[in-house]
Amino acid sequence: MIKIEVNKKAVSVEKGQTILSALREHGIMVPTLCSMEELTPTGACRMCVVEVEGFDNLVPACSFKVQEWMKIKTHSARVLRARKANVELLLSNHPDDCLYCERSGNCELQKLAEDLNVRNRRIQGKRTSAKIDSSSLGIVRDPDKCILCGRCVRVCEEIVGISTIDFERRGDQLKIATAMSEPLQFSSCIDCGQCVVACPTGALIDHNQFQELDTSLDDPDMIVTVQYTPEVTVSLAEAFGFRPGTDMKGIINTALRRIGFDYIFETAFGGDVFIQEQAAELIARFRRKEKMPMITSRCPALVNYVEEFRPELISFLTPVRPPHQIMGKLINKWFATKKQVPSNRIQNVLITNCTAAKYEASRPEYASDNSPDVDYVLTTRELARLIRLNGININGLDPEPADGPFNAITSAGKLLANAGGEAEATTRTVFREISKKEMQDPRITKLRGNKYLRDAVIATPKGDLRVAVVHGLKHALKVMDEISTGKSEYDLIEIMVCREGCVNGGGQPIPANVNVIRARTKTIYDIDKSESLHCAHKNNAVAKMYEEFARAPASDQSRDLFMTRFAHRKVLK
Ligand code: SF4
Ligand code: SF4
Repeated sequence: MIKIEVNKKAVSVEKGQTILSALREHGIMVPTLCSMEELTPTGACRMCVVEVEGFDNLVPACSFKVQEWMKIKTHSARVLRARKANVELLLSNHPDDCLYCERSGNCELQKLAEDLNVRNRRIQGKRTSAKIDSSSLGIVRDPDKCILCGRCVRVCEEIVGISTIDFERRGDQLKIATAMSEPLQFSSCIDCGQCVVACPTGALIDHNQFQELDTSLDDPDMIVTVQYTPEVTVSLAEAFGFRPGTDMKGIINTALRRIGFDYIFETAFGGDVFIQEQAAELIARFRRKEKMPMITSRCPALVNYVEEFRPELISFLTPVRPPHQIMGKLINKWFATKKQVPSNRIQNVLITNCTAAKYEASRPEYASDNSPDVDYVLTTRELARLIRLNGININGLDPEPADGPFNAITSAGKLLANAGGEAEATTRTVFREISKKEMQDPRITKLRGNKYLRDAVIATPKGDLRVAVVHGLKHALKVMDEISTGKSEYDLIEIMVCREGCVNGGGQPIPANVNVIRARTKTIYDIDKSESLHCAHKNNAVAKMYEEFARAPASDQSRDLFMTRFAHRKVLK
């Protein structure tokens, strides 16, 4: 530890850390725009500048290291003038359409302008009118709102590992673009939405489907069902100012009913079906010792990546539909028959953390009778907007149950929200099927924690089962190379494109910093602890569904219903 002086007060800080992290540890907040936890600092926005005695110029706190007895002023008149001028420069060519902007009220630039008391436009910059790119089904880019902070570029390179977008040109021509400035749909983008969560302004947003959904909700001839994935219940509350990790269990059902949805389902039911099908597939491969390790395919952004960049890995992917697409199929086929309504009178809405699920829903593999099994996909952020649009006070709602026949779930189906949860839940069922007994402790703690790659060895009567999870696609590249070259030692590998998995998906509430993501993750593990059923194979409602409709996991019927296929796709690289 070393001593420095901040605003005339001596403080102890860790040697080698940046001024910014030292200040934050001591509760001294300086604003930032380009800085992001765990990503390379660039000092590009100069919003975090501070005055350091002995330096002629102000220094960016994010990229300067602390030195013994450094004397720092964080909010001197000179510092505040410089920060205000930086914001004024950013606003000089920014569109004045805050009233219409999706990020209004949650825009970091807007907040800085307010905090720094920017009240008029002193600097007139050159306005541009670049074309809005809405070619991708997952995300929309509005280059005019881009402040060139580079957060999207760094997240796409350092966490996702794709580098779809980058800085292009120089000086006042500088902009963010895809390779050859192609629209996102024709680029190497895998729709993960991590850049949307990273963006401080409205330059990157969801591709929303509000209008189309409105029409269906108003149509008296339509039955509109809605399902929501487990991470939505542990993150929605943040959009209404509640503590991160607050579980909106039950309350979400009440809100969705008030909006006008006819039937409300938890995707976790489909999660329990998915786990049983995936476990059956893994056991078959484990016995035959072929196409191992099996790579989980529930993450649609991962599927996009493998199909576009690593076609040699396609045969290793689990050929099981993801839980929400299993639900879509079950609603259109089983539920429709039970209710005696033609499936073309049913519209299925999915609410999820995932922007890539918006593209996924359009895949021909996920359609029945030429109609998509999931008609509309809204993110958690869009659900929050829908709740506000309908004038619902989420604070005053009593919890209500979801609807049958999908209302029985286990905590295994909910664990899928966390990175490692899918490997853990699948292992519980595989162990039961192989050993004919339950695991003594269903929790596999080695698959939990903060490391990017976690693994565990589970002893079974048929040999060791070696399972792993890796999250943040960039961290999975080595693991994928090992699979391609036959050097992997695992039997099952869960790969999630987003850091920490679905709890931190591209459609989740903003901001999503490390503490927020940990709070969501913890709530999912707490649910797993408190629920009485921890294993997908113990879900009696799922057993009844198989009995009435799909026979058994890995049967001919269930394969017809719940299996899918993947294929090589060519994109710009
Ligand atoms: S959606 Fe993902 S892959 Fe596409 S540009 Fe954004 S971070 Fe990169
Ligand atoms: S698109 Fe958003 S995150 Fe990317 S550089 Fe522009 S403002 Fe920053």
